[in-house]
Amino acid sequence: MFDLGVWGKSKRAAEPPPNLVYINELKSQKVILRGIKCKCNKSWCPICSLKTVINRFCGYVKDWDWRRVRHITLTIDPSLFESPEAAYDLLVKKKKIAGMIRNIGRTLEKVVVDWCWLLEWHRNELPHWHLFVLVDKAGYRGQIGADKIRHYWTYGRIEEKPIKSESHWKKMTDYLSKHGYFQKDKAHQSRLPEWVRERKSIIKRFGRMNKSRGNEGSRNEKLSESNNEFDKLINESKLCEWFERKESEQFTKTQGQLLDDCGNKTDVYWGLDGFKNFWGRLDMPYHEFKCMDGKYMEGLGYVVEMDRVKLELLRARHFLCSVH
Ligand SMILES: [Zn+2]
Repeated sequence: MFDLGVWGKSKRAAEPPPNLVYINELKSQKVILRGIKCKCNKSWCPICSLKTVINRFCGYVKDWDWRRVRHITLTIDPSLFESPEAAYDLLVKKKKIAGMIRNIGRTLEKVVVDWCWLLEWHRNELPHWHLFVLVDKAGYRGQIGADKIRHYWTYGRIEEKPIKSESHWKKMTDYLSKHGYFQKDKAHQSRLPEWVRERKSIIKRFGRMNKSRGNEGSRNEKLSESNNEFDKLINESKLCEWFERKESEQFTKTQGQLLDDCGNKTDVYWGLDGFKNFWGRLDMPYHEFKCMDGKYMEGLGYVVEMDRVKLELLRARHFLCSVH
């Protein structure tokens, strides 16, 4: 590691250490970072999910005409499957919900305009889906029919309900946006069962009709372009291998461990573009990050200016991951 204390005083040495020029160059380059208490941003986190996945769901259905919305609950019959996990994996892998809606759409005299779902849990650890289908006809004329749904959903019970009124629709989405689940006293429905907490792969909480793949692609490209520029700057140092090892640790954690980490560490954003670029997560509680020489700025978090040597040290000692 760089030992600046010694090198800084080595004027009398016959030859400077080979890296001194490089180190001095790095010392003159300033970087501004802002740190905030980390967020896991996981879709099953009771805190983070309200601003991410639940917010996306509510935004998605916000302009739907409640008269044309069918609320369908899809459950799983445990006697048909070996375990809740086996049921989940089969239904998701084979895209059974999208398939069911496609089949319904083909055989109905009404048009399925849009759909989306949220996943919840029963106490027995089985998933159930709240599926919302927007059709082109209002009220009774928009009904899909339990027999028809049952014909294509042969994995458990189903229930189809209309939305009763505008206030019913608003109440339902308002409650969801504040609590993360649909009904009072049903907090367990948003809590991950143990078998999911032990998984390393993600369980999707929100799904929707696939309409805008193109847009998302270009957004992600843009994001990675701007990150690359910074990464190029950072990767000139010879610490890459070390970082890679640290980053791979992220993928050894279970979903439950990732949720438990929420709020325990510091997320750092760098400053070339209004502090919007997520740089990484530091294995350091926020209160420790605030001990560095810097200041708290309203709406930004704790802002620190440092040279690149310090940045490299921070990264070497505390860097956890570069992606959520
Ligand atoms: Zn969280």
